[in-house]
Amino acid sequence: MKDIAEIRADFPILNRKVYNKPLVYFDNGATTQKPQCVIDAVTEVYTTYNANIHRGVHFLSDMSSEAYENAREKVRSFINAGKREEVVFTSGTTGSINGIAFSFGERYIKPGDEIIISHLEHHANIVPWQMMCERKGAVLRVIPINNAGEIILEEYLKMLSSKTKLVSVTQVSNALGTVLPVNEIIAAAHSVNVPVLIDGAQGIQHGVVDMKTMDCDFYVFSSHKIYGPTGIGILYGKEKWLSELPPFQGGGDMVDKVTFEKTTYNELPFKFEAGTMNYPGAIGLARALDYVNSIGRENIAIMEKELLSYTTEKLSGINGLKIYGNSVRKISIISFLLKDIHQYDAGMILDKMGIAVRTGTHCSQPVMDRYGIDGTIRASICFYNTKEEIDTLATGIEKVISMFS
Ligand code: PMP
Repeated sequence: MKDIAEIRADFPILNRKVYNKPLVYFDNGATTQKPQCVIDAVTEVYTTYNANIHRGVHFLSDMSSEAYENAREKVRSFINAGKREEVVFTSGTTGSINGIAFSFGERYIKPGDEIIISHLEHHANIVPWQMMCERKGAVLRVIPINNAGEIILEEYLKMLSSKTKLVSVTQVSNALGTVLPVNEIIAAAHSVNVPVLIDGAQGIQHGVVDMKTMDCDFYVFSSHKIYGPTGIGILYGKEKWLSELPPFQGGGDMVDKVTFEKTTYNELPFKFEAGTMNYPGAIGLARALDYVNSIGRENIAIMEKELLSYTTEKLSGINGLKIYGNSVRKISIISFLLKDIHQYDAGMILDKMGIAVRTGTHCSQPVMDRYGIDGTIRASICFYNTKEEIDTLATGIEKVISMFS
């Protein structure tokens, strides 16, 4: 296995300086940096075989179509989905959830039906359901959380009823790092025949994700959060759902036969892939998954667990620093505030020290409302980060505090 210096050398951007200071990148929850092999894969498409997929009979088109379909197979195997037909390329998590919210709403939702989400959701897993509920006269129910930032499972179980038509929850909270008990959530929903969508935007990159064992009905994620290019993501859906659901976009490639009277749709998964897809992104994503596999997902989880406990210990020792989100099951995201100091001020000063953290609501305003705050400072850490960088963060925070005292 590669050591940390070798791993970091794979990510050219980690070597740069900002304001003449070594970059300390702790904004991996927003987007991850890319290894050279991913950058090369995308460059390779444009320099050697760029052509639109699926439509041509010429050499380059065959080559890009094959690489695109190989990428689909790579994703299938990475998440251990049963069939390639169940793996749809989209623009990302947001695109996938909006697509399902639209199609599911059109196909199954009547006035008075209920959709369950949790209080920990990113806006991408709130707003599309609100839009669908508004369109269809359905009701959005929200699983509450406790002070530690964990969902209250008993409240969820009480919410499930014959009115429930779908449960859509995140695997991991991007604002607090909480890992949700998705297996229990899915099992309870399935016991009353309700399908479940899992937002894997923050879950896919922190350990092994397996569709057969998780048994969710839909799983969505973005490539850019797992070291792949932006603008591409995945909608996994069980075949029985994807074959019943209507497409959420119409256009080229998603059709079988088009006449002005009637159009029939292409087979799965192409029914859900309208227009020119982001094939260089898909090919880059496949390379990113190869890279993650080469490090080993278990290894990544172990490294990040150690970094999380180191950070938690370090930051907890700072007087005036309060951590939000103390779930027993957590990934390497630490949200915090510094007593009277506004999070933007702290973030801007840390930035001048070369430390990139995120400040604000993290697209999870309801989480902030739950704690009566208007945002946090968030350090989201991944396996290419080091304990030395965490020390730099801790020293930086101490400096911020002393500047304001
Ligand atoms: N869900 C969660 C939990 C997220 O963290 C994010 C990204 N911050 C999203 C959804 C949306 O992802 P994207 O912007 O890539 O569509």
